[in-house]
Amino acid sequence: MFNNILMAFDGSTHAQKAARLAADLARQYQAALCVVHTYDPVPDYLGEPYLQEVISRRTEAADRVMEQAQALLGELPKVETEVLEGPAAEVILRVAQVRHVDLIVMGTRGLGQLSGLLLGSQSQKVVTHAQCPVLLVR
Ligand code: ATP
Ligand code: MG
Repeated sequence: MFNNILMAFDGSTHAQKAARLAADLARQYQAALCVVHTYDPVPDYLGEPYLQEVISRRTEAADRVMEQAQALLGELPKVETEVLEGPAAEVILRVAQVRHVDLIVMGTRGLGQLSGLLLGSQSQKVVTHAQCPVLLVR
């Protein structure tokens, strides 16, 4: 049923659960899995050399988050990772469209501090605008 799954990972406990579930589905359906992590855009008014330093720090932190994701996934038929700059929901929706993804898996919540919310802003945006099924994991 699913051939091409996108998993959105921010390192939160919800996303960790979602990563395990996405990996299980990928194994079950022999589907390709693409794990996406985004980091905040770096304002270019910073100027050099601060700009390069901030970019390096953000990409290094993003790589560490991605390593954490990969450690959770286990053996998979096909896995790819994308670390991209930009607001998470927009990037997730764009990658889903470009890659013709047929399922998006993400957490209901992420690293945000507002623990009263049932749904984070990024999962809300994705579930509202996605063209394919979205599985939200709590
Ligand atoms: P908010 O960000 O609105 O304060 P939140 O952090 O609790 O609230 P979301 O950011 O919507 O909630 O997180 C829900 C899910 O979205 C996460 O579990 C994860 O799957 C995905 N997600 C959030 N941020 C990112 C990111 N930077 N990169 C990839 N996926 C993300
Ligand atoms: Mg968030």
